[in-house]
Formats: sequence, C-alpha cells, structure tokens
Amino acid sequence: MQRLPVGLVMEDHQGRFVYWNEEFLRLAGQSGSPEHCAAQWWRRMYPDMAEHERVVQRWQSAQSKARAVLKSEKSLSSPVDAQLGGPGGYTIEVQEMQLLGMDGLRRPVLVSGVMQEDGCLMVLQDQSLRQAAEQEVKRLAFYDALTDLPNRRLMADRLQQALETCLRRQHFGGVVLLDIDNFKAFNEDFGLELGDLLLVGMSQRIKAQLPAGATMARQGGDDFVLLLEDLGEDPVAAATRLEHEANVWMKLLSEPMEIAGALRQITVSVGLSLFGGQPMKVEEVLRRAEMAMYQAKSQGRNTHCFFDPQLQSALQERRTLEQDMRAGLKAGQFELFYQPQVEMGRVIGAEALLRWKHPVRSYVPPAQFIPLAEETGFILQLGEWVLEAACRQLARWAQHPRYAQLVLSVNVSPGQFLQPNFVDQVLRALAEHGADASRLKLELTEGMLVTDVDSTIAKMARLKSYGIGFSLDDFGTGYSSLAYLKRLPLDQLKIDRSFVRDVLTDPNDAAIARTIVALAKSLGLHVIAEGVETLAQCRFLEGIRCHAWQGYLMSPAVPPQELERLVTHGVVPGAGAPALSPSSMR
Ligand code: C2E
Ligand code: CA
Ligand code: CA
Repeated sequence: MQRLPVGLVMEDHQGRFVYWNEEFLRLAGQSGSPEHCAAQWWRRMYPDMAEHERVVQRWQSAQSKARAVLKSEKSLSSPVDAQLGGPGGYTIEVQEMQLLGMDGLRRPVLVSGVMQEDGCLMVLQDQSLRQAAEQEVKRLAFYDALTDLPNRRLMADRLQQALETCLRRQHFGGVVLLDIDNFKAFNEDFGLELGDLLLVGMSQRIKAQLPAGATMARQGGDDFVLLLEDLGEDPVAAATRLEHEANVWMKLLSEPMEIAGALRQITVSVGLSLFGGQPMKVEEVLRRAEMAMYQAKSQGRNTHCFFDPQLQSALQERRTLEQDMRAGLKAGQFELFYQPQVEMGRVIGAEALLRWKHPVRSYVPPAQFIPLAEETGFILQLGEWVLEAACRQLARWAQHPRYAQLVLSVNVSPGQFLQPNFVDQVLRALAEHGADASRLKLELTEGMLVTDVDSTIAKMARLKSYGIGFSLDDFGTGYSSLAYLKRLPLDQLKIDRSFVRDVLTDPNDAAIARTIVALAKSLGLHVIAEGVETLAQCRFLEGIRCHAWQGYLMSPAVPPQELERLVTHGVVPGAGAPALSPSSMR
C-alpha cells in the first residue's frame, strides 16, 4: 500500500485520518504526517472559502451517495472489486480537483474513493504528467518547433475567426506576409544551422515587439505571417494602417543581427492583403498575400506590394496628396473663404471654410483633403493655421465699424479638439492677433463630444469663460442623447444640410427640422440652418421660427473682400429689402 502509485488516505466515521501512504503526502505537498482531522485538511487544500465550500460539498454528497448504497446492500465485496465497479457499487465517483499543496504548488488530481464499514478510503491520482503531456501535444500541433511561434495551423484558425468577425462587424482586417530575401542563398553560403539561427533570431525580435492581440506565425520555410484584425471600416484607411505595419516590420527585421558571432543583415519582401469587404476563404487571403509578395520580389525585393492594384494606386495617390498638403501649407496655398450667415435679413457673421489652391489641381475641395488630414494627423497643423487665419481676419474686421460685429464660425476637427493644449492654442491665436474672443464661435460635431464628456465640458467651459461661443455642427446626423446635450455649454445648434435639402418634399425631414428648432428653444440655444438654396426653404424655416441660415441662396463661401461687399451691399433673399444699412447692424 505504501508503494502504490496512487495516494491513499483512510478516514474514519469521526472524520479523522487514520491511515495514509507516501504518495498521498506527496500530492498534498506535506513532508510529515497530515492533520488528523479531514475537515482541517480540506481547508488547507482549499484556502479560498467559496471554492472550499463548493468542493467539499460535492465530495460529501458523493460520499453520502456511496454510504447509502453501502447501507442498502451491505455488500461484502472487496474495495478493489468495488472500485472496478464490482457488485458492491459503493465507490465514490471520480472528481477532478486542483489541490493546493502545503508546499504552495497546485496539482491536478483525480479523487475517488470507496465507502467501507469502518470509514472511507480516498484515492488520489496525480494528473500533472497527463496535463503536461496534453499541453505538449497542443504546443506541437499549433506551434512551430524551431521558433515557437504559432504555426500555419494556428494561423489558419485565427484567420478564420478574424474573417468571420470582420464580416459580421463590417470592418477590415489584413495580413502581412514577410518573406526573407535570398534565404536559399543564405543557407547555401552559411549552412542550414546558421539559417535556423537566423530564423530563431528573427522570431525573438518578433515576439519582443508584437503588440498584444496580434498574431504572427511562421507559415513555413522563411515566411512569416502577421494577422491584424481591426483596421477600421474604410478600405483605404485600413490599407494605410496595414502598410504602416509592414514598414515597421520590414525595418525591424532588416536591422543587423548577431548570428554565431558575426553581424548579418537580411531584407524581406512583403505582400499585403486586406479582407472584410466580402466573404473570403482563409486560403484566398493567404494566396493573395503571397501573390503580392512575389510581386514585391519582382520589383527588386526589400519592398512591399498590395494584392489589389486599385488599392495600391489609391494609396499612392494619398501619399502624394499628403505630401502636397504639407508642402502646400508651407507655400501658402491654403486660404479661408467665408460663407455669410444671415438672420432677420442681415448678415450677422460667417463660417470660415478652408480652401486649397493646389498648383496643379487648382481648388481641391475640403471633402477631399480634410479626412486625409484627419487620418494622418496633419489636421493639427492645418487646424492651428485655420485658427490663426480666422483670428487675424477677426482682428481686421474689428478695425471697421461695418464688420466689427461679425461673428466668425470656425470648424474644429475631433483630433484638434482632443489635444490637451487645445484651449491654449485658441487663446494664443486670439491674443496674438488681438482678436475679440466673443466674436469667435467654434463648430464642433457630436461624435467628438461623447468620448469623455466631463473633460469636454471642462474644456468648453474654460473657452466659454473668455466669451468664445460653440455651435453643434451637422446636428441631427449624430447620436446625441438629450441628457448630455443639456450638460454641454453650447450656444447654437446647426441643422444639417441634409435635412434642409428636402425639407419641402420629405415630411420626415420637415419634422426633424421642426423638432431641432423646438429642442434648441427648450434648451435656450440659438438655431441656424445650413445649405439653404431656395427662397421656399428659407420661408419654410422662417415658418418654423428658425431665423438664421446660411447657404447658396445668399452666397457660397467667398474671399474676405467679397464677404465684406455682401455685408455692405448684399441683398439678403427673403428679407424683401436690400441688406440693412451698416448703422443698424449694431
Ligand atoms: P461643413 O462644416 O458642414 O460646411 C458646410 C459645407 O457646405 C461647405 O462645404 C459649404 O461650402 C457647403 N455649403 C454651403 N452652403 C451650401 C448650400 O447651399 N448647398 C450645398 N449643397 N452646400 C453648401 P465645404 O466648404 O466643401 O466644406 C466641406 C466640409 O469640410 C465642411 O463641412 C467641414 O466639415 C470641412 N471643413 C471645411 N473647412 C474646414 C476647416 O477649416 N477645418 C476643419 N476641421 N474642417 C473644415
Ligand atoms: Ca461647419
Ligand atoms: Ca455642417
């Protein structure tokens, strides 16, 4: 009994341990004899109260079942018979437990037992070897033996999951296939052993740098595949991020590496493939990346290619546009135009709208470059320039009694507003040009305000304390909840162009416009409509008591001199009379 490879302990009817063997002591991590009291022993094995309760209850109920059988049958068969499912059948069914040994180690143990006349024999079987073996099998099945990176199978598995998630959530993911250039030659020149060392060195770099949540696998030979799951909803932006990843890894892997005492340097060719737009198979994604990788090789190696040639050229286009934009800001190609805002028949202010006079493409509309500027972070510089230019203009107008009352609305991008020093930036621009803060209004959009409402409110409140106003742009297109709208220190809601457009033909849009006006009134806010193109729209808005508007009906955005001309001589449609004289503007 002492030498048996299972742990044995005998408990009498009073709950005392009366016999045990060496294996039992080992499994319980005990060097000397155990407690004589079973209850105390269980508490040692399960120090966590809740867990203790659960385990002991389960064990005791198994014991009672066996005891009941024993009583009813009074069977006389040997314990061994019983354990083998013999005639007595008073065995205690097997349970898997995790015993916390007195040596601090947790061991997986199968616990069973036999109920006898004079007590209960508990049988403990060590499972650690089996578990370790199982884990090893798993590791061998899913990890590469040489590099210990996930292998092709695990990659296929994760990619399959990623494909499903991306399709369901309607966003993009992508794979980056990295293939060592001239690896065959490396092996031939330096031998397979050094080749292996190179692969191991590379995978160590990979493991050290891989961000949490990303998977990089050794796909076989000298191919590594990186899987990225959440690249967003826009294909071109997703491609940009994928390309960025590719550049990071190309750089990292081509840094010189010490192998067997000498520095060696390799390069990689990279194939990129996006997925998520439509259903695709794992093999297809990988095949595309591979084709792109071969294309990169054919372009002279040490470079990357996209599978999709359209995407490739779209990316090229974006890169050029971004470079042009940065150069354009330095070269003074950006200007602010001003679209008049009208109320009760007079121009009360303007919205500053950015214009880019590209040397080759002439005017590039903001819809084409603002989103790119936002994605690349260039909006921070551009936005600062806009604030400066707007403040300069305000200061100029302040010199002239006719324009001194004009309020200038300036669009602010989310990235800009979220910058920690945004408030200082605005205040600095005002101070530098000596502009009056109460003539500046910032147009924010709903999306940017909900990320961190408290800090948003704090930021707005600080700016507001200097007299700066706030308008909520594109109102109605976002997901504003009334609760937070009430908390924001806003001055104005701006009815989005899309509602104004069909306000006469679509009863829904008319109802939305009406609701926004009512909402604004109830919150004590001004309301302005944008995109007013016809007199009829203007009349409708007046009818629902929205008296402020901007749109092509009055004028598109124009250079400052032109705006000044409109303030002085412009005929405000719907007012029935020429714009009021400057003296009545105050
Ligand atoms: P937004 O803020 O909604 O600006 C209004 C847009 O509607 C402007 O387009 C304007 O020209 C156009 N618009 C004005 N009246 C009418 C009309 O009656 N009918 C129609 N169909 N359109 C009208 P724009 O100038 O092309 O600007 C587009 C967007 O670019 C702006 O939309 C704004 O989100 C962004 N943007 C423009 N300038 C800046 C800027 O300085 N900074 C930032 N962050 N974004 C800007
Ligand atoms: Ca705007
Ligand atoms: Ca707008």
